[in-house]
Amino acid sequence: RQKSSYKPLSENSAIALAVRLNLFPAGSDLHCREIGDGNLNLVFHIADKSSDKGFIIKQALPYAKVVGESWPLSLDRARIESSALQKQAETVPALVPRVYYTDDSLAVTVMEDLSHLKISRTGLIGGENYPLLSEHIGEFLAKTLFYSSDFALEPSAKKELVKKFTNPDLCKITEDLVFTDPFFDHDTNDFEEELRADVEALWADTELKLETAKLKRKFLTEADALIHGDLHTGSIFASDTETKVIDPEFAYVGPLGFDIGQFIGNLLLNSLSKPSQEQESLFQHIDTTWEVFQREFSKSWERDSLEVFTRTEGYLQHVLTKAFEDAVGFAGCEIIRRTIGLAHVADLDGIADKNRRIQAKQQALALGTALIKERTSITQTKQLRSYFAQVA
Ligand code: ADP
Ligand code: MG
Ligand code: MG
Ligand code: MG
Repeated sequence: RQKSSYKPLSENSAIALAVRLNLFPAGSDLHCREIGDGNLNLVFHIADKSSDKGFIIKQALPYAKVVGESWPLSLDRARIESSALQKQAETVPALVPRVYYTDDSLAVTVMEDLSHLKISRTGLIGGENYPLLSEHIGEFLAKTLFYSSDFALEPSAKKELVKKFTNPDLCKITEDLVFTDPFFDHDTNDFEEELRADVEALWADTELKLETAKLKRKFLTEADALIHGDLHTGSIFASDTETKVIDPEFAYVGPLGFDIGQFIGNLLLNSLSKPSQEQESLFQHIDTTWEVFQREFSKSWERDSLEVFTRTEGYLQHVLTKAFEDAVGFAGCEIIRRTIGLAHVADLDGIADKNRRIQAKQQALALGTALIKERTSITQTKQLRSYFAQVA
């Protein structure tokens, strides 16, 4: 590892870095393109002109471009992202991109090129089904969460993990944009004037705000396991046979149900954009995610949990029940913030017909509200179908 002082890369300096790292045979004719779509990071794709498969160089920027201004944002998130990818690779190597090189002072990660896959949000919007998506994400969730929790780690190792993955700047984004701003009249919010009556009713709903505040406290305080922190369908590359989870820059040690809830919430957002005959396959993905999560988490628990936990009758069931209840609440928060908050999703914003789009967003607000308020009565994924039917 080499110490360099920070400077944003250009396409040319990204090629120079690839050459310095000997990523390609000497004399290769290299081509580079910045392909990032975000406001926080640069993503360079570098390949030899004679082949498609190359390398990805992701670099964090020291600010985020939001609401016309720029927020300073710690470059430490590049260290968090590359460390999280490497930690995840210890338990689910097939489900994350390989990391080849990192430079924390340049805020750079060199990783596997996944351009042969498609971002799952884009594919799902386009009508693809990805038969293995939920199987793979269920396994990703079970293994990454279990093996970074106190159920598997000695207490001192767990405290070291908490220290290594302390991520205040990115947690603050979630605390504000997911759990706070959408529930108040805040200037980061963004919604159509046609939704104003629904949004004002939501802001006046004291029960909803109290339940959301309880979920926010879990996000602030519950250090269960190393979570991905941004597990929406835009952070997942997929094909019919492969699934790869990218972009864990929000990783920190947080509540077990958060990633599960964000993923389910994004599947529900996609369902809201679909005609009813296309919704069932998304509900089946939700069922499978939770089934596989429970099955794999339980298997790991039986095999690898510290004895104090396996000796306690009923403890695994208690952990799973709480994780599910929290996941349902977090899914509700995700659905609401993606509808009226700062960062929208193409699933809803891409509905071309305005009346249909507004209607889908009204349904999203009603569904998110129901999930947050009624999460203790929702104990199985099957029930989500009837909550969905009530709003649709
Ligand atoms: P951000 O944190 O800015 O959202 P992402 O890690 O999500 O950055 O990457 C942004 C985009 O760059 C992705 O949606 C994808 O199109 C492309 N990308 C990122 N990582 C890879 C990769 N390993 N292989 C191919 N494309 C990638
Ligand atoms: Mg992006
Ligand atoms: Mg991303
Ligand atoms: Mg990101």
